[in-house]
Amino acid sequence: IQIMSRGLPKQKPIEGVKQVIVVASGKGGVGKSTTAVNLALALAANDSSKAIGLLDVDVYGPSIPKMMNLKGNPELSQSNLMRPLLNYGIACMSMGFLVEENEPVVWRGLMVMSAIEKLLRQVDWGQLDYLVVDMPPGTGDVQLSVSQNIPITGAVIVSTPQDIALMDAHKGAEMFRKVHVPVLGLIQNMSVFQCPKCKHKTHIFGADGARKLAQTLGLEVLGDIPLHLNIREASDTGQPIVFSQPESDEAKAYLRIAVEV
Ligand code: ADP
Repeated sequence: IQIMSRGLPKQKPIEGVKQVIVVASGKGGVGKSTTAVNLALALAANDSSKAIGLLDVDVYGPSIPKMMNLKGNPELSQSNLMRPLLNYGIACMSMGFLVEENEPVVWRGLMVMSAIEKLLRQVDWGQLDYLVVDMPPGTGDVQLSVSQNIPITGAVIVSTPQDIALMDAHKGAEMFRKVHVPVLGLIQNMSVFQCPKCKHKTHIFGADGARKLAQTLGLEVLGDIPLHLNIREASDTGQPIVFSQPESDEAKAYLRIAVEV
């Protein structure tokens, strides 16, 4: 991987934010946003004294508004900072709050960068213990810019156990290494599907691809999330599984991962 940058710019913490966890993936559609949302809720559920925020920098395809059942424009504080929108106890900010719902973001790099700058620097988070950042998929400008501008506690990389997704997850992990962001581990998503009728288990995308990649990279697998209809339905209806069905096995998988992070 080549990183087109002249040295690392100086990182400046986000005011009031103690720890930043970024959730990344090599490919789109592997469950990165679903993981980011449920991880944020799981961090809050595991320790109710902690204040959690969720920042969606997936500029071209923001999913957080729908998954967290939020819409509208952020209000401005007295110092002209955007106030996050709140649901299920999580403070959220997303590109989706700044553009119309069905309006595509057709922007060149410079405009995207200025939006990222706004999302990183012009939000009044108050005091947060953890800010979970939903990155765009891949290893482009936005990922680099976020990694180089704010101190990041660690990155988690989401992948399905499929070769094509793992190859890109590998690149993602290498990118974080190059910019000195610690990779906390991999999350293997959609690893097993259990038929709700006969209980037979099928590894639709392969069984343990992320485990093998983790071994190759010397990383941990933080957990496995099954492919489950309830996870998809919960996200689509804006009632994420960790919030709406905290006692389910699927929610428990996220809750266990939050302990590892
Ligand atoms: P990404 O952020 O990687 O593009 P999303 O989180 O948007 O991926 O997930 C893509 C789709 O897959 C969504 O419809 C989501 O609800 C669904 N999905 C994600 N993880 C699971 C899972 N473990 N089981 C069932 N559906 C899932």
